[in-house]
Amino acid sequence: MYRTVLLDLSGVLYEGRDSIPGAVEAVERLRRAGVTLRFVTNTSRQPARAVLDKLRWLGFRVDEAELFTAPHAARRWLREGSYRPHLLVHPDIRAEFDELASDAPNAVLLADAEDELNYRNLDEAFSLLIEGAPLLAIGNNRYFRDSDRLHLDVGPFVRALEYAADIEAQIAGKPSRLFFEQVLADADCPPDEALMVGDDVQADVQGALDAGLHGCLVRTGKYRNGDEKRLSGDAMVEDSIVSLCERLSRK
Ligand SMILES: [Mg+2]
Repeated sequence: MYRTVLLDLSGVLYEGRDSIPGAVEAVERLRRAGVTLRFVTNTSRQPARAVLDKLRWLGFRVDEAELFTAPHAARRWLREGSYRPHLLVHPDIRAEFDELASDAPNAVLLADAEDELNYRNLDEAFSLLIEGAPLLAIGNNRYFRDSDRLHLDVGPFVRALEYAADIEAQIAGKPSRLFFEQVLADADCPPDEALMVGDDVQADVQGALDAGLHGCLVRTGKYRNGDEKRLSGDAMVEDSIVSLCERLSRK
């Protein structure tokens, strides 16, 4: 058994408004087996409070200290670098950055800002980047699945700004090695005793493998047939969090 299991949220524990059938019990089973749990998400459309409320409303038992969000990782990075960010983020998470000064911006924070990702706002960000301001992105995911279909995530917009300004973005959240290291430091667990479970083959599973963790790709959420062929390195592939937990408890 692994000492620590990192669980992605959307696509692993729930899809849209519904929990994955059996997921609540599966997570409880891991807890009872003495596994340290960390809930990790790149979502940047909701504040941490709302993410926590949703998990609890769906029936998951989650402590606030077990939740790691990419916006929190971004805030830490900006604070440590004394940056005054130009915020290109979803209106619902703006308040998470209230403590940071934003006058005379010297960095750009880019997230899945939904309708805020318009030409005017992207062009304003570009004008800072071309003058040398660093670009920090919350996640780099290509797409995400809502209840109905796949939708554009922040990744394509990161690429657009990187391309225009000929720079490379820093990524807060998965698949950044720093993010995994922060979570494991908090759990006081070496990477080779930790398992990351996700439905995003790049951000969750490849990111975890690259950071020295074990990985498990689940065939729920945004998983598409053949995703596992895009992995370099060995990872488990399971139908869902439920079959994964059954497999782990047999060990
Ligand atoms: Mg996911």
